[in-house]
Amino acid sequence: MKIGIVGLGYVGLVTAAVLADQGHYVAGVDIDENKVKGLNCNRLPIYEPGLDELIAKNRDRLHFTNRYDEVSEVELAFITVSTPTINGRINLDYVFLAAKSLRIIPKDSVIVVKSTVVPGTSRKVREISEREVVSNPEFLKEGSAIQDTLKPDRIVIGSESKEAGDLVEELWRFTGSPIFRTTLEEAEMIKYAANSFLALKISFINEIANLCEKLPGCDAKVVAKVIGMDKRISPYFLDLGLGWGGSCFPKDTQAFVSFAKDMGERLRTVEAAIEVNSERAVRAVNLLKGLMGSLMGRRVCVLGVAFKPNTDDTRESMAIKVIKKLLEEGAVVMAYDPKARTDLVNMLPSKEECIREAEGVVVATEWGEFYGIEDLLKNKYVVDGRRVLRKELMDGRYFRAIGLGY
Ligand code: NAD
Repeated sequence: MKIGIVGLGYVGLVTAAVLADQGHYVAGVDIDENKVKGLNCNRLPIYEPGLDELIAKNRDRLHFTNRYDEVSEVELAFITVSTPTINGRINLDYVFLAAKSLRIIPKDSVIVVKSTVVPGTSRKVREISEREVVSNPEFLKEGSAIQDTLKPDRIVIGSESKEAGDLVEELWRFTGSPIFRTTLEEAEMIKYAANSFLALKISFINEIANLCEKLPGCDAKVVAKVIGMDKRISPYFLDLGLGWGGSCFPKDTQAFVSFAKDMGERLRTVEAAIEVNSERAVRAVNLLKGLMGSLMGRRVCVLGVAFKPNTDDTRESMAIKVIKKLLEEGAVVMAYDPKARTDLVNMLPSKEECIREAEGVVVATEWGEFYGIEDLLKNKYVVDGRRVLRKELMDGRYFRAIGLGY
């Protein structure tokens, strides 16, 4: 098929590369000229494992452009543009602009809304574009985005028109994943309910972690592991630590809460999850203060800047919030991350150097290379914000971890 992808960020680029790899001709359009220029010089705007290889392999079936007229012949056009929030409410301007621009595609072509949008949006996209619309929310995780696209847990296809839904179902059949056909609104709702529930699970275990910290001999990691053995709870997303960040959970939970309010309802559990999450960075810095006393003028190394491992994405990263809080406390902060960068502090080229230069260390992102570094941390004040360190190898006088009673 000839496929258009509108918005070449994490979702758009991965979708483009995977579909090209399936033999489709994919034209990707983005309003960001630098991004497109870079892509056309084989410079990827993001780090995602395996993505550069997949794009290089399928270069002859991939076309990147700033011009909508170059996607005018596509049979399917995916909308994968950003859906940020402004004061907690979803901003759909980019989506609607894309919908308007897609009036250029043939009348019988189908628009697929992949961006995360509040219920009712796909219907509006249909009105604006005057084309049939399918809602096909994306569930990929940065860091394993290609694998998640090739083999998602499930695929949701919301449509009013059976034929349009069938076309998108056919496209994703190669994944072998279960496919659910729903209404447009159900598909949009499923995405928000899924993200909000995952955020809720993490905030729940983080509250248990707060409590365990008050109880010597009590480790919330053990509690999480054992409650997760109950199939009704499941072991996933019970990762206690600094909480959730990134480009999705913070904005999606807020947009969902605002959407519910507009509908005359409250999502009190989701509101509570947001509140719990908003305290995580401060709590971690307080653990460090508990060990070191005042942080004024003291040198602190933050290990990890990305919002999670295997990505360079720092949007709403908890590590960044920790850095900001440490700076507020007057600490001299430096950081190390294998892929991500921040201008807020001095970034050092290796974890060894970063640790060596500092008196205190906060582990803020659970990159693989931060496991097994207990020896490097000797004689440092350490806060393990992601539970990567083996507590039995750490000296309790200089060590605190989220969720660990002391
Ligand atoms: P992103 O910010 O990385 O990329 C979006 C791109 O869209 C940008 O390059 C921007 O320039 C472009 N754009 C904006 N308006 C445009 C327009 N009118 N025409 C053409 N291009 C336009 O975003 P992302 O992280 O890829 O997320 C995209 C959507 O997918 C969001 O709704 C997000 O919530 C959702 N989503 C993201 C993830 C994730 O892990 N990143 C996972 C699931 C769903």
